[in-house]
Amino acid sequence: MSKIRVTIWNEFLHEKSESKFGELIRSFYPDGIHGAIARNLAADDLEIRTATLDQPEHGLTDEVLQNTDVLLWWGHVAHDRVADAIVDKVQKRILEGMGLIVLHSGHYSKIFRRMTGTSCSLRWREIGEKERVWVVDPQHPIARDVPESFVVPNTEMYGEPFGLPNDAHIVFLSWYEGGNVFRSGVTFQRGAGKIFYFSPGHETFPIYNNPAVVKVLSNAVRYCAAELPPQKTDCWNQDPPTETVYSKNPLEVDTTDLHKAK
Ligand code: ZN
Repeated sequence: MSKIRVTIWNEFLHEKSESKFGELIRSFYPDGIHGAIARNLAADDLEIRTATLDQPEHGLTDEVLQNTDVLLWWGHVAHDRVADAIVDKVQKRILEGMGLIVLHSGHYSKIFRRMTGTSCSLRWREIGEKERVWVVDPQHPIARDVPESFVVPNTEMYGEPFGLPNDAHIVFLSWYEGGNVFRSGVTFQRGAGKIFYFSPGHETFPIYNNPAVVKVLSNAVRYCAAELPPQKTDCWNQDPPTETVYSKNPLEVDTTDLHKAK
């Protein structure tokens, strides 16, 4: 069986910061968030690569995108620095069937907002409180072998209302110590592509080393991975038709040029 080709994209700015929080993040993610996720997801059926904002084309060249079955996305303070041309290409690949897993503050990334078509806004608070994540759809493949609830001991609160479209399928729901609730794990289908958003993953705590979080991401990679060859996303002219057309075209004008810009 061929391997699932996974690309983990990270903005990779916090981890390089000279500040105290940069030092803190490097203490548990020495290879960056992308490096930690890559290490924790490593398995025989996966072929994992990483890509970051500062690389040419943000590491998402045509060659990389064509050879990605599922793309993970972590971004926070530099969503605007992601080139629209790259977002267009990623969107096309998702519509063709590539999976997308959007993590934590990636809720505000260009690609997630593009795919949902909604604000993706939410309520937040950063005081290191506890989060309990509940499985609300135990039959869902992403919930397989995940405890019915698990704790992230310290995190940033993300609360409702979350500006998602109405077709968000809820797999996980979170409760926070401060009283808020949040749809913390939701799936969508856009074109042939499966999308999963998962909120745990605030950068100042080692959340991507939490075994339950790793299990969720590991399931999500297999669930979202493209199963079919790329599906058509452009319109095409089918002429001649499949069956014989007996009607005589009443137009005597050649309309071919109507479909061209000029
Ligand atoms: Zn955060």
